[in-house]
Amino acid sequence: MVVSYHMRFKDKVILITGGTRGIGRAITEAFLREGGLPIVLYNSAEDEAKKLREKGVFTIKCDVGNREDVKKSKEIVEKEFRRVNVVVNNAGIMLTMPFEEFDEEKYNKMIRINLNGTIYTTYEFLPLLKASENGAIVNIASNAGIGTAAEGTTFYAITKASIIILTKRLAFELGKYGIRVNAVAPGWVETDMTLSGKSKEEVERLRDLFRNKTVLKTTGKPEDIANIVLFLASNEARYITGQVIVADGGRID
Ligand code: NAD
Repeated sequence: MVVSYHMRFKDKVILITGGTRGIGRAITEAFLREGGLPIVLYNSAEDEAKKLREKGVFTIKCDVGNREDVKKSKEIVEKEFRRVNVVVNNAGIMLTMPFEEFDEEKYNKMIRINLNGTIYTTYEFLPLLKASENGAIVNIASNAGIGTAAEGTTFYAITKASIIILTKRLAFELGKYGIRVNAVAPGWVETDMTLSGKSKEEVERLRDLFRNKTVLKTTGKPEDIANIVLFLASNEARYITGQVIVADGGRID
């Protein structure tokens, strides 16, 4: 369940990468409910993008790992909106492999989308954030990035740990513009990333496995993460920057 306040983001322009699916879509819909004007950068789920457009979301097809694409998206947003109040760097992929099966192509793909995508988006949209008052950046990291182990996720974890240090360093560099930079580090959340292509039995097995790895005996829903993103982006968090909120049900391994 997404907590609804009173139009906390009325007329605020919110850029969300990968906002057509999973956690990103929950974030997009949550900002919409709060009166925000979401702009979604997406590179897949065309049907979902269409549904979002019907709800008033501005969408731009963009591979965040391609700097030219991100640059062009920024030009479109500048022309249409002139400013951006919030940037949510959510787009990401997880390709698993044990360290001993290092596959450079997979590794580079994760670096390109997860890390470079976050850098390109933040860098290109920074002038538009500076043009708004009290800008905020919220990066979606992962509890993998703070060392929580899951099979085959060492290289993915590296990309997410990089996002955490980027968050802290950017908070330091951008504070002078009144821009706050924070991150959310989710645990296991039920989305395409964790469940797509798996049989019903496998889904149940994974649910049980990850449920039992938490003190709360539960798994995450996209809305659990969206609620935290909204809080960090809102004025209620005006005294918070450079922080990472871990939302993982209290991992116990
Ligand atoms: P998902 O696969 O359902 O959604 C990922 C989104 O990113 C999709 O909308 C996809 O189109 C977009 N995307 C991927 N590559 C892109 C690219 N090159 N350019 C533009 N968009 C691109 O996954 P999700 O679970 O919703 O993940 C969202 C974020 O949360 C990711 O950064 C992920 O690493 C992180 N995360 C997820 C979990 C989890 O358990 N689901 C846990 C921790 C962190």
